Amino acid sequence: MNVENTLAFAQQLDEQDELRSFREKFYFPQHEGRDCIYFTGNSLGLQPRNVQAYVQQELNDWSNMGVEGHFTAKHPWLHYHEMFPSLLSKIVGCKEHEVVVMNSLTVNLHLLMVSFYRPTQKKYKIICEEKAFPSDQYAIESQVRYHGFDPKDAIIEVKPRPGEHTIRTEDITDAILLNKDELALVLFGGVNYYTGQFFDIQKITATAHEVDVIAGFDLAHAAGNVELKLHDWEVDFACWCSYKYLNSGPGGVAGVYIHEKHAKNKGLPRFAGWWGYTKESRFKMEKGFVPIETAEGWQLSNAPVLSMAAHKASLDIFKEAGVEKLHAKRKRLTAFLHFILNDINAKQQKKIINIITPDNENERGCQISILMEAKGKEVFNALTKKGIVADWREPNVIRVAPVPLYNTFEDVWKFGSIIQSILA
Ligand SMILES: *Cc1c(COP(=O)(O)O)cnc(C)c1O
Repeated sequence: MNVENTLAFAQQLDEQDELRSFREKFYFPQHEGRDCIYFTGNSLGLQPRNVQAYVQQELNDWSNMGVEGHFTAKHPWLHYHEMFPSLLSKIVGCKEHEVVVMNSLTVNLHLLMVSFYRPTQKKYKIICEEKAFPSDQYAIESQVRYHGFDPKDAIIEVKPRPGEHTIRTEDITDAILLNKDELALVLFGGVNYYTGQFFDIQKITATAHEVDVIAGFDLAHAAGNVELKLHDWEVDFACWCSYKYLNSGPGGVAGVYIHEKHAKNKGLPRFAGWWGYTKESRFKMEKGFVPIETAEGWQLSNAPVLSMAAHKASLDIFKEAGVEKLHAKRKRLTAFLHFILNDINAKQQKKIINIITPDNENERGCQISILMEAKGKEVFNALTKKGIVADWREPNVIRVAPVPLYNTFEDVWKFGSIIQSILA
């Protein structure tokens, strides 16, 4: 098939798209009386239309039943969180008992570091990516200080080579091998929020394990976006938020993965709470913490049901669409976007649009980050004026994330046509 940078071609791709009706399951912000073209699902996913009914169900049960709702609600609150592992295990690629929904992302990052960052005087360093999301930087830095080490000495940041925007896998694995005698933890992002680079989680984990070091990942920009096989890749732990690609609402309840070999280890240090206590005897309310031997053993509090209701509504849509189909459409959408941006460069006869996200589709997800070599702010303002929601990062980067659940090939074409009109 000959790809074309035309509206007709984009519309043809939309007609052939078996997931095209899924966009009707979402609310779109309005611009001059029409739906926006929303490319910031990497920041806050759109609200699924079914969320209201799911939340309303819990509000009704709460008003009608009060405390009895823990047992008699349509989805009894005592077990509410147990609905998630079957849905999320397919999205992050793990066994059901390796995943739990709780708290929010940065909180979980800290809780996981309590268990998995166990520095000694000799082995205390952490390897992470340069320019990790700020919250992760602060979490890592404060954990290092908490254990009495100096962040300048204890944190090793792997960065792109001069003149490059993304980090080479071999530079990550080399850093791990080089520092092996002092290393306590490798803690990387799954997909970098700025460049959109999808790191080689399997390779990074295998290299860390080669030198007997734990490997954990922040999957905020990866969960619900790229294909993950956390269990098969033997990732030790991971966490993510639910409000980006997982469309579960601002500040929504987050997710955690812990490999079963660790989850079973009752001896692992952790900060405990009653919801992580073994279920059979939780309500005996006895002294002495006995953890559940699954990821649930890291839970502290009882389930935040209202936030979880929104999460459930969204994950049911993922289930209906099917993760394989979503990945296939994602790859087609970003490939089309790539084609269009390259076509614009070709027409300009110079590379005004510098795509800093990797070209290889296995090294990226939905998001494409473009560094504008000219007229960046002008282009961005024109997009905003036409009702296209993208994201601007200083000094001149535009991030766009066409997501397979609610973006179309026509959206992508329109994005390109506006850039083209400004550059013309
Ligand atoms: C979005 C994001 C966060 C946000 O953390 P919260 O605790 O949910 O506020 C943290 N880390 C990464 C990598 C992110 O992309």
